[in-house]
Amino acid sequence: MAQRTFDSGERPPYHARAMANPLLDRVPPEDLADCGQVIETEEKIKNLTRLVEIIEADLAAVPAQLVPAKWRTAPVGIKLVFSWADGREEIPALQGRVAAAIAAVCQRCLEPCEIAVEIDLNMLLLRALPRSKDVESGFPDGEVWELAEDTIRPLDIVEEALIMALPLSPVHSSQDLCGPLADNVVSEKPDIVRPFAGLKLRLGK
Ligand SMILES: [Zn+2]
Repeated sequence: MAQRTFDSGERPPYHARAMANPLLDRVPPEDLADCGQVIETEEKIKNLTRLVEIIEADLAAVPAQLVPAKWRTAPVGIKLVFSWADGREEIPALQGRVAAAIAAVCQRCLEPCEIAVEIDLNMLLLRALPRSKDVESGFPDGEVWELAEDTIRPLDIVEEALIMALPLSPVHSSQDLCGPLADNVVSEKPDIVRPFAGLKLRLGK
């Protein structure tokens, strides 16, 4: 008979909420904090439509035969843990990790490359800035994530985090992987401004 055991300290998965897909449902962040929602799953790049648009725009400059065929189906590893940041249960917090290999154009050789993006999430989900002093002292490492609406769709946060983590000047992880143009391009300064570069600076600290 099949038997599932859990190591001491490891808790069984949380299944209390009957949701079709907690990544896609739009709910108040307070609800997710209240039930301690944990989302551990894998998505595909192709389901992150704004990210896909950015990648497509990047790759448009590359000869089609060089574009990696399967970049859209590359996996996005997702772990999200919702909780309350404060004892008064006023500030929903989100911690977790997002990891993906994202296709981009190497700014050294102008050929497609794969950028490994790994983000540790540590966010306070707030509806309005400025934050109070209480927030800063109680959760000093949390990055304030300003919510535009009363509800969130967790996948949107994953996508936003990935977009903001994209390097401004992606390059192959080693110059050995670069194409023949690398020697010509290496001294030039890439002049690329991503649409979310400003946002990254604003939320950076
Ligand atoms: Zn390269």
